[in-house]
Amino acid sequence: MASQAYEQILEVQALDLSLTRLRHRRDHHPTRAAIDQIDAQLAVNDAAQSEIGERRHELQRRQKRLDDEVATIAARRNDVDGKLYGGEVTASKDLLALQEEAALLLTRQTEMEDDDLEVMEQIEQVDGEVAELAGERAAVESQRRDLERELADAVAEIDTEIAALEAQRVAAAEPANPDLLERYQGLRDQYDGVPVARLVDGRCDGCHIQLSAVAVDRLSKMADEAVVTCEECGRLLVR
Ligand SMILES: [Zn+2]
Repeated sequence: MASQAYEQILEVQALDLSLTRLRHRRDHHPTRAAIDQIDAQLAVNDAAQSEIGERRHELQRRQKRLDDEVATIAARRNDVDGKLYGGEVTASKDLLALQEEAALLLTRQTEMEDDDLEVMEQIEQVDGEVAELAGERAAVESQRRDLERELADAVAEIDTEIAALEAQRVAAAEPANPDLLERYQGLRDQYDGVPVARLVDGRCDGCHIQLSAVAVDRLSKMADEAVVTCEECGRLLVR
């Protein structure tokens, strides 16, 4: 018959192991990885949006330059037309020169306006891409919200289990021998959460090493609540 004091510590250990498993399941829930993937998608979308935003700005700057140039040329044409038809210039040589300048200015203005039109078309195309990226982002964000809800539900469920186990753990630790409990606590990290082992047929089931008959005999004679450890691995031993 195993010692009652050690059975209590074993129960605490079993509950602690279950708690560790539950906390691990909560902290490494697969939905977290899915959310990380979504965040990576969002980062790619952000980068694409900022790149295309830059492209749109550049096109707008070009458009502004073209508009300014068209306005300058139009003003200049206005001047030339004024002189041509104002009646002040009468020499045919001067009139011819003005007509040539007017024709040149018109050609230049038409070219600029064609360029302007082309830039406008490019801006429209970019706007289409911007809208597509925004739509994609909205869809991914909605997926993320669904996953967040899913994760919150799963976490709440696990937390309920954890709370129940924590209450059981408090109840199990309460009657346990304080010295053994303290020793168990101190050894948990060192033995990966399992510092208490059973002695089964003279063999420690922590390190699986067979103890000598002398050692087994010595252990069997120790008091119920004495600190009994495996001479091989140092785990607390349940006899
Ligand atoms: Zn051992």
